[in-house]
Amino acid sequence: MPENRSHVDGARVLADLHALRGIGTYKTGVHKPTFSEPHMRSLEWLAQRLPEAGLTSRIDGIGNVFGTTAKSGPKLLAGSHLESQNFAGWLDGPLGVVYALEAARVINSAPNANGAVEVASWCDEEGHFGSFLGSRSYIGEVSEDDIDAARDRGSGRTMRDALSEVGLAGRARVKAEPGRHIGYLEAHIEQGRTLESRALSVGIVTSIVGIWQYRITFSGEQNHAGTTRMEVRRDAGLALARFCVDIDDRFPDLSGPRTVWTTGRITLDPGAPSIIPGRAEMLFQIRDDDPAVIDRLEVLLRSMAAEASSRGRCGVTVERIRTGAPAMMDAKFQHAIEAASLAFAGGRCIRMPSAAGHDAQILSTIMPAAMLFVPSIGGVSHHWSENTADADIVTGAEVFIDACRRLLAG
Ligand SMILES: [Zn+2]
Repeated sequence: MPENRSHVDGARVLADLHALRGIGTYKTGVHKPTFSEPHMRSLEWLAQRLPEAGLTSRIDGIGNVFGTTAKSGPKLLAGSHLESQNFAGWLDGPLGVVYALEAARVINSAPNANGAVEVASWCDEEGHFGSFLGSRSYIGEVSEDDIDAARDRGSGRTMRDALSEVGLAGRARVKAEPGRHIGYLEAHIEQGRTLESRALSVGIVTSIVGIWQYRITFSGEQNHAGTTRMEVRRDAGLALARFCVDIDDRFPDLSGPRTVWTTGRITLDPGAPSIIPGRAEMLFQIRDDDPAVIDRLEVLLRSMAAEASSRGRCGVTVERIRTGAPAMMDAKFQHAIEAASLAFAGGRCIRMPSAAGHDAQILSTIMPAAMLFVPSIGGVSHHWSENTADADIVTGAEVFIDACRRLLAG
């Protein structure tokens, strides 16, 4: 057994996670929307723990929490997020924050350790007010205008109001210091079934998929639903339904092994039972980590729209409204996680892409970054029943902390 195994305190990791679960509890999960009272209490909880790891804590002007040290030597940044989706699970976010805290407690106090682990909790990873606002603020991608424009997608409350209500208005935002960190490491629950179905303990993330989004518009002719005979109708809603089915028939031929596509919101205009819709719109999303796959699917999508327009009775247009940027995880960091898995998880690990977005994809644009997954029971996440076996949580912590140590040792 590796000699430093005893340094990770599995019971302490579990106790910390349960402490965070006790703030904003909902059934067996939590309800902690960004800047809610339980979210803020969770940030305070972390800020109070960080000195145990020899770190100075600070909550910045966008709700990011940082634990930093004046210790010399290489520094590794580690963390995740503490807010949740509405009425969601207890581990999505807190797992990575508590692992980072434990890594800092174990490594920073060790007399022979090289360098230190610094901790970050990124605000609003779950996107209540925007898209990765906390980590994007840190890398300098969020302007004051962006904050002015941000609103809670549910309540409509402005981010400015929320920041002033929680006492963060006017506080400076911490920005990344070039060269300060050797990289960023984040642990997270898998939120899928890959690990569980193969009885594995650790997922080594190779890439985080990019998300491409499209608005597909169908134009027909609005008319009376009683007096307009079927053969002369130009029903935009029907054209949309046919197009959805066509996508599902034809995409598999050109997609990659892990490509996924989803029709989100469908709008029929005017959307009344007695009126034939003259216009219809669907929001459509594709995820993959290979832009070449997306390129050919987009060509197909546009040619399907052209075919549908020329053959059918309605015009179809495709507009790309979001261009994905897949994030590749650092090879050296992946190797460190693999070595740590061999030492602490019997090598029960697999390299896999992440189909969900994470702050690591933002950090990867300015420094080497990597992620480690632990199994999710039944693959369930974004639901209060989300869970991971205690033994897997503890094994994941041991692998994470050993990976941190290896990276700091160079
Ligand atoms: Zn998360």
